[in-house]
Amino acid sequence: MPSIVESLSKFLNLEKERGFKNTAIIGGLHKVVPYWENEARNMTIPDDIIQSVTELLEEYSTAESGRRQDIIQELNIVLMGIPIPAQQENRPQPVKRPVPAVQSAPIPPIPAVTRPETLQRTPEKARPPAPTPYNPPKPPQSTPVPVKKETPAPRRVTPGSRLPDSVTPVTLNAPLTVINGIGDETSKKLRNLNLYTLKDLLYNFPRDYHDFSQAKTINRIMYGDQLTVIGTIQSIHARAARSGKISIIEAVIGDTTGNLRITWFNRRFLVNQYHPGDQVSVSGVIKQYLGRLMMDNPEIEPLEADNLSTNRISPVYPLTAGITQKFMRRIMKQTVDFNARRVADYLPEPVRLDADLTPLWNALLQVHFPDTQDDLDDARRRIAFDEIFLLQMGVLRQKALWQSNSARKFSVPADWFAEQISRLPYELTSAQQRAVQDIQTDLVSGRPMNRLLQGDVGSGKTVVAALAALLIAHVGAQSAFMAPTSILADQHYRGLSQLMTEGDHAPLQPNQIRLLIGDTPEAEKTEIRQALADGTIKIIVGTHALLEGPVVFQQLQFAIIDEQHRFGVAQRATLRQKGDNPHLLVMTATPIPRSLALTVYGDLDLSIMDEMPKGRLPIETHVVHPLERERAYRLIRKQVDSGFQAFVIYPLVEQGEDSDENNAAVQEYERLQAEIFPNYKLGLMHGRLKPEEKDAGMQEFRAGTTNIMVSTSVVEVGVDVPNATVMLIESANRFGLSQLHQFRGRVGRGDEQSFCLLIPDSDTGLENERLAVMEETNDGFVLAEKDLEQRGPGDFLGTRQSGYAGLRMAKLTDVQLIENARRHALQVFETDPNLENPENKMLASALIDFWGNGQGDVS
Ligand code: ADP
Ligand code: MG
Repeated sequence: MPSIVESLSKFLNLEKERGFKNTAIIGGLHKVVPYWENEARNMTIPDDIIQSVTELLEEYSTAESGRRQDIIQELNIVLMGIPIPAQQENRPQPVKRPVPAVQSAPIPPIPAVTRPETLQRTPEKARPPAPTPYNPPKPPQSTPVPVKKETPAPRRVTPGSRLPDSVTPVTLNAPLTVINGIGDETSKKLRNLNLYTLKDLLYNFPRDYHDFSQAKTINRIMYGDQLTVIGTIQSIHARAARSGKISIIEAVIGDTTGNLRITWFNRRFLVNQYHPGDQVSVSGVIKQYLGRLMMDNPEIEPLEADNLSTNRISPVYPLTAGITQKFMRRIMKQTVDFNARRVADYLPEPVRLDADLTPLWNALLQVHFPDTQDDLDDARRRIAFDEIFLLQMGVLRQKALWQSNSARKFSVPADWFAEQISRLPYELTSAQQRAVQDIQTDLVSGRPMNRLLQGDVGSGKTVVAALAALLIAHVGAQSAFMAPTSILADQHYRGLSQLMTEGDHAPLQPNQIRLLIGDTPEAEKTEIRQALADGTIKIIVGTHALLEGPVVFQQLQFAIIDEQHRFGVAQRATLRQKGDNPHLLVMTATPIPRSLALTVYGDLDLSIMDEMPKGRLPIETHVVHPLERERAYRLIRKQVDSGFQAFVIYPLVEQGEDSDENNAAVQEYERLQAEIFPNYKLGLMHGRLKPEEKDAGMQEFRAGTTNIMVSTSVVEVGVDVPNATVMLIESANRFGLSQLHQFRGRVGRGDEQSFCLLIPDSDTGLENERLAVMEETNDGFVLAEKDLEQRGPGDFLGTRQSGYAGLRMAKLTDVQLIENARRHALQVFETDPNLENPENKMLASALIDFWGNGQGDVS
C-alpha cells in the first residue's frame, strides 16, 4: 500500500495536471485532512509538519488559483522533507538523514529515507563508470541505449509540452537514467513532473527565476524592489495568528549592511528546515510594514556557492516530493549544456527571420540558464511564438478539414419562418436577428456549420438556437440540444416546449420534443431512445445523458451545445458523431477578449451578440462592507415584500466542524432562515444534493414558492428566473470577475431594476479594489479583459484543452505576439496547405506531434 505521503504526492500532481481546480479529490483537497492526520500520526511524522500540511490543505480549497499553485509547491516541499519507510523504497541499507529537529516530542527511529543528495552518493547499480557527467547514448542505428534495459517509459502525451518527436535526434528520446545521478528511483520521482526523456527535460521550463545578478545588499534595497537578498538567518520562529487558524513564521536575515524582516504564512515547516546561522537567499518583493521594509512570503533557499560565484539569473523549477531545487538545477544544467544544440529547428527559416526570432537551440539554452535578462526575454518570445504558431496551424487545418465535408442543406419557406418568429412573446434584438441570419446562411451552404454563438449573459442565445432547431425540425430532421446541468436542460426543455407546442399553430407536438437527463426513469429513457431512433422526436434536450451509447438518432442534423466551456472536447465530438457531419452550434456566455478568441476559437465561425433585449435596466451593483450586511438583508426584505425573489451565494457547501467562518451554504441557510428571514421561505441549492432534490428546489424557486435561494456556485450558469431581482454574493473576493458577472447575470432578466451586492471576506485588502470594477461596468467583455490581466487565461479556457495545454510560455494577453504568430501561420498555410514543400517538412511532423494524432479538433 502506498504511504499517505506518496498518495498525497500523487493527488498534488494530479491537481496540478488538472490546472489547480481542486478536483483531484472529490469534494476538494481538504477532504484528505482527516485521513492525512491519522496516517501521518501513525507514521510518527512530527506534529508541526502534520499541522503545516493540514493548514495548507485546508487553505487550498478556498484559495484563488494563483495561490493554489504556491500551496501545491509548498506542500511538495514539505512532503519532500518527510522520510519514507524503508520497505517501500526497497532499499536494503537505510541511509541516515537528520530528522527535522523537534525539541519536544521524542521521535521514534524512522527508517530509510530518500533524498536526491543521498541518491547521488549511492553507487548506481549496473552503471558503467561515466567519464563525463553525461553518458551519450549510442547513435540511433546501434542497439538501444546501453545504460539500462529501460526504454522510454509509458507517457502521458501533453500536446505541445514537448519538442515534437519526429524532428528530434533519436538520442533526445533517451530515458532520464542516461544522466549521471539519475537512477531508477529518481527517474520514478521525476515522472511525477511528467519528465520521462531528455527532451522532456529540455522543455521543462523554470517556473521562476532568481536574479542573483541583481542581488543588493540590505542597505540598498528599496520599497517595491523585486529581488534576491543574500544573508544569514538571525532568527526564525513560528507564532499563531490571532484567528488561530493560521501560523505565521517570522525571520530576520542580515548581511554586513543591515537586517531584513521576513514573514511567511502557513509554512511552519520552515522552522525545521532553517536555523539561525544558515546562509540563505530569499527572493520576493520588498514591502513596507509599519514604516519598515520587509518581505512577505518570499521564496527561500539555502545559499548555493554556484549562484554566488556566477552571479547569474538562476532558474527555479517545479519540484515534487524527493527532488530538491539544487538537484533539479544540476541535472537541468547537464541536460541543457549537452543537448540544446542538438535540437533541429523546425520553423521554416524565412518565418524565423521575418519574425525576428532566435534559433530554437539558443532559446532552449537561454530559457534555462540565461546570460542576461534580454537573452531570457528573447528565448521566451521564441518559445511562445512556437506555441501559438503550432496552435494556429492546427486550428487552420482543422477548419479546412471540417469545411471539406459536405452537409445537408436546409432551407425553409421565408413566410413560415417569419410566422414562427412572430409567435415569440417579444421582438428579437437586431443582434439576435443577425445571429439567426448567420445560422441560416450556414444551413444552406452545403458545408457543416461550425459556429460559436457568443453573447453576454442574458443576451438571449437560447431562442436563437431554438429557432434554428425548429427550422431543422420543419424539414423532418433531428436536433440535439445539450446543456451542462440538469437544471439548465430542464429549463431549456420547458422554454422550448412552451414556445413550440403551445398556442395556436404550434409547430410541434409535445411528443416531438423531449427531455433526456441522467435522472430520467429507465422506462422513459427506453421509450425516448426508441422515439429518437424511429425519428418521432425532432428535438431532444438533455445533459451528458445524450452521449450514452444506446442513444441513436434516426438522422441527427444539428447539434447545439450550451455553455460549451463546460464540456470536454471528447464530449462534443461524441455528440457530433451521433450524426453524419451534423451542423454544430456552440454557445458561450464567457466573454472572450479578442486576442483570446483569435487563438482559442480560430477554427470556429463567430456570431457575437453584443446587445441586450430591450427594456433591461443595468443591474445596480454595490460592494458592501461586511459590517453592513444588515443593509443587504434589508434590501432583500424590501424586494421580497414587493413580490420579487433573491439569490444568496456562498463559496462553500458545508463548513468544517471547528471553522469560525460563515461562508458555507448549508450552515448559512439555517441561520438565515431562523434568524434573518424567519417570515420568508428559503431554498437551498448545492452540488451535493441529489438530482431530484435539485430539480425540486429549482421548481419551487421558479414557481415562487421559495422567496430566497441560498446556493453555492451551482447556479452560476444559465439559470433563468426573471422574477429574481437581488443577487447577494458572500466572500465575493474569492471569485473571478467573470464568474461574478455570471452570477450577476442571474438577475436583471426581466424589466425590473435588479441589484447585485458583493460582500468581501474582510473590509481590507487590494482584493476588494478588484471588486469595485463590478460597480463600474456591466460589460462582460471589460471584466473578462480585467480577469485575464489579473488571473491569467485559466478561467477562460475551461475544458477546451486540446492544444492549449501546450501554451506554457505564451501569454494570451500578448496580443502582438499572438497576431504575429497567427499571421505567419496563415501565410504558411495559404502557400502550402498540406505542408508538402521541402522547407516545411519538419514543420509538418512538428504539427502532428503537437496535436497528438494530428487532429486539431478543438470545438
Ligand atoms: P442567455 O443568452 O444568457 O442564454 P437566455 O436565452 O436565457 O439568455 O435569455 C434570457 C432571458 O431573456 C430569457 O428570459 C428570455 O426569454 C429573454 N429574452 C430573450 N430574447 C429576448 C428579447 N428579444 N426580448 C426580450 N426578452 C428576451
Ligand atoms: Mg443561456
